[in-house]
Amino acid sequence: MPPAEVETAAVVVIGGGFAGLNTALQLAASPNPSPVVLLEPQERFLFLPLLYELLSGEMRRWEIAPRYEQLLAGSGVVWLQERAIQINTQSKTVETSSGRQLPYRALVVATGGRAETYGIPGVQEHAHSFRSLADVERLQALVSRLQQQQRPLQRLVVVGAGASGIELSCKLADLLKGAAIVEVIEQGADLLPGSKAFNRDQARQALLKRDIRLRTNTSVTAVEANGLSLRRGGADSSQLESLNCDGVIWTGGLSGKVPPLNPPLPLDSRGRLICNSCLQVLGVEDLFALGDAAACPFRDAEQASHPATAQVAYQQAACVSSNLKHQAHGEPLQAFSWNDLGEMLGLGIGQATITGMGLTLAGAPAFQLRRLAYMARMPGLPQQLRVAGGWLANWL
Ligand SMILES: Cc1cc2nc3c(=O)[nH]c(=O)nc-3n(C[C@H](O)[C@H](O)[C@H](O)COP(=O)(O)OP(=O)(O)OC[C@H]3O[C@@H](n4cnc5c(N)ncnc54)[C@H](O)[C@@H]3O)c2cc1C
Repeated sequence: MPPAEVETAAVVVIGGGFAGLNTALQLAASPNPSPVVLLEPQERFLFLPLLYELLSGEMRRWEIAPRYEQLLAGSGVVWLQERAIQINTQSKTVETSSGRQLPYRALVVATGGRAETYGIPGVQEHAHSFRSLADVERLQALVSRLQQQQRPLQRLVVVGAGASGIELSCKLADLLKGAAIVEVIEQGADLLPGSKAFNRDQARQALLKRDIRLRTNTSVTAVEANGLSLRRGGADSSQLESLNCDGVIWTGGLSGKVPPLNPPLPLDSRGRLICNSCLQVLGVEDLFALGDAAACPFRDAEQASHPATAQVAYQQAACVSSNLKHQAHGEPLQAFSWNDLGEMLGLGIGQATITGMGLTLAGAPAFQLRRLAYMARMPGLPQQLRVAGGWLANWL
């Protein structure tokens, strides 16, 4: 269906990441589907959990970043390569970057998240982020500059000892092969606070093996062009320190990236749309939100909300697509229930750790299993087969 013929009966999905792409594909694959329009400005889907392997050269760009044109061919989903600029829930339209007013019957917001900088001076200007193909290219250039210049005491600092910070620091240390020191700064008391104990132990060993220094209970107060300012201890501590470095990579937090709404809707403290358990945005029946852009009630007493992971986004896509069908038929909606399948972390080149589905595994076998598990999560069978073919060709 050409974009000009998009009807008011369409379900519009904003954002083609794990959450939005899978919602759109599942809706379009159902019997007698409504027209489905996907608004996504990027040319390529990005399989973020494998971004570290792109950085290290263990995977290629086409494997982790297939083109939407290829992924959506024959799916029935209409892809508009445009950004949503504003959502008007009264006129039920989305204004896009080309000035189009796109009408919808139901709207799905799956716009993901952005790095949270907490207003710390210099983060925006001087720190690298790690979420895009351009970020990978910038970091690869930095690594090769450090390898070439071989000055004494070169240093890279990774801020945040969550999964992203730990995975990234291990890959960087392996790539740098001693050309620079890698340090991880964490304001909390330990690394990987939300992780399983086995994975945390494996991560500690991986840092030790690579001489990566982890500074806990340490907050970044400013980032400058050639270093950063730190405070050791709590907010009122006077233990201040400056650290020179050749680059800072920021993995310190995430907030929702929701397009402006008219009339405005309340967001939670992390900038996410607040949903009920069926992933409907509170107070707006035909508006659904999921993935990193959404806060949905979570019944686990230990955690305030679902983790911001591809696993959660993927499972929520199935819930939203089936709730959109229920809603169209006047049937009751279903509550989202997260099935925790466990956690897989890459810990350097060719190494990983896995805890989940009754299994704990580390080292090279875990790395291979992680790749296989992610291959099964690639969107669409043709992409799964292409990636599997590429890996087989490498082994032969
Ligand atoms: C480096 C890295 C590694 C990770 N590793 C893991 C892992 O190992 N396991 C795991 O489970 N999770 C991992 N995650 C987290 C996981 O990738 C996210 O939780 C997941 O991608 C969330 O899916 P999403 O669809 O909500 O958002 P995203 O995947 O971020 O997709 C959002 C999409 O919306 C589009 N968009 C944004 N704004 C607009 C707009 N205004 N109009 C139209 N489109 C818009 C963006 O271009 C993007 O394509 C990782 C994340 C990162 C950054």
